Amino acid sequence: MPVEEMTRGVARLRTLIANMYLVGTQGGPWVLVDTGTPGNAARIRGAAEERFGRDARPEAILLTHGHWDHAGCALELAAYWDAPIYAHRLERPFLSGESAYPPKDPMAGGAFSFLSRFFPSSTVDLGECLLDLPEGGEVPGLVGWRWHFTPGHAPGHVAFFQRYESVLLSGDACITMDLDSAMGIVAQEPRISRPPAPFTYDWDQAHRSVELLADLRPAAIGAGHGEPMSGPAVAVGLAELARDFPRPRRGRYASEPARTDETGLTFVPPPVPDPAPKIAAAVGLAAIAIGAVVVLSRRERG
Ligand SMILES: [Zn+2]
Ligand SMILES: [Zn+2]
Repeated sequence: MPVEEMTRGVARLRTLIANMYLVGTQGGPWVLVDTGTPGNAARIRGAAEERFGRDARPEAILLTHGHWDHAGCALELAAYWDAPIYAHRLERPFLSGESAYPPKDPMAGGAFSFLSRFFPSSTVDLGECLLDLPEGGEVPGLVGWRWHFTPGHAPGHVAFFQRYESVLLSGDACITMDLDSAMGIVAQEPRISRPPAPFTYDWDQAHRSVELLADLRPAAIGAGHGEPMSGPAVAVGLAELARDFPRPRRGRYASEPARTDETGLTFVPPPVPDPAPKIAAAVGLAAIAIGAVVVLSRRERG
């Protein structure tokens, strides 16, 4: 698994669809932010050893939220490293087998919503490895970083921010690729974009979370999906997204959010009828997968 330097002290790891970040410097304490899709634990361990040396172990594993593409390897890595996993306390019911996440909404609009019929909404049970992030905003294992509560995409979603160099790890509160267009998914051109729509259940909160991140005026951003970005385009892109936040016009959560509390899911609005047969979505998924393979293989050659 390639380790790509994002800024000093932050490196990006990537599975096919999601990013993770190694934060910390060689010889000092370090943490892993997010853990990718299931099945990547050995590759993540290899990448961490490449960066921090053999037998290196993190102070903690931090989760921006518990969706399967971010928490997929958390338990296996925690067991191997004997490291605690931290998430926001409102994410706990979804990471302990107590509650399902709000159901996905394939009718939220855009290419990824259309394809989401094939994406799992499964949850993981992290058992006793899971700890709550400290209330004050400090980040276990990292000096100079704070977590910020950014719900809407997930009930206990957090973003991590380092003030001195103005580096933001945004999780899925906003991402750096356009999942709403097929070309955006295939080409993955860096672009600050709304959270993955079919898995976002409260658009007012999601909008407020983007406003909060825009106020941080980050100089660099690493999101859960898409290429890391740096320079003035980051703050400009976030400000534009906050100003013209693209709420879905239709879909299950367009006018009313799902509701959650510390016990998990408490209310879900009724589903919107889904007229698209799965076969049509399958054809779209295949076309996008072929396009992505072509683009990625060209990139690797070039
Ligand atoms: Zn997510
Ligand atoms: Zn994600």
